[in-house]
Amino acid sequence: MSISENIRQIRQTLPTAVRLICVSKYHTAEDIMEAYEAGERDFAESRAQELEVKATTLPQDIHWHFIGHLQRNKAKTVCRYADMIQSVDSLRLMETINAVTDKPVDILLEVHVAKETSKTGFSPDELVELLSSTDVSRFDKIRIRGLMAMATRTDDEQEIRQEFRTARQLFDLLKSRFFTSDAGFDTLSMGMSDDYSVAVEEGSTMVRIGSRIFSE
Ligand SMILES: *Cc1c(COP(=O)(O)O)cnc(C)c1O
Repeated sequence: MSISENIRQIRQTLPTAVRLICVSKYHTAEDIMEAYEAGERDFAESRAQELEVKATTLPQDIHWHFIGHLQRNKAKTVCRYADMIQSVDSLRLMETINAVTDKPVDILLEVHVAKETSKTGFSPDELVELLSSTDVSRFDKIRIRGLMAMATRTDDEQEIRQEFRTARQLFDLLKSRFFTSDAGFDTLSMGMSDDYSVAVEEGSTMVRIGSRIFSE
């Protein structure tokens, strides 16, 4: 099936309020342009170098998202090209981003809800602790837009659903405790090719889909 047909099918089942991010990592400029011609403008990359090459050669009205583990020495490059960094997993990284970026940048705090220990991110407790003890308004170049979460890779749909539910509850809790007067805290990024329907049912506002768009 073609990329545009894949997108059409996904769009058909996705509520219009849920934002679709096309995960274009490892895929070619031609593939991205096919999605672009189908109307897509949000794309995500996981490596600084690949983001830089694509962002400087592809249409300027693309919104780039960064979803990979970000090393601090790559932060300046990523800030230059990304509209949103979805994988912020430490206070030090927040400090670095705020210090090196030339323009304001949206970020999501990555929360670890999966069983797999390999996945990165803050634990829910760590996030509550961080926001209780840190005055994030001192980060004048960073806008905390919400959370990003990944579920365990498993066929157990109940497990996946429970993890997404945990992420949604944490999002609501943080919003009511720390971002009540901040309408910009509005994004819960969860759901990938194999689990995005469950994520949407559990309150995702943004899905990140790669293989279901770009691979057969
Ligand atoms: C690769 C990746 C995706 C997309 O995964 P697919 O299963 O190909 O849809 C989404 N989010 C993150 C953080 C990723 O690294």
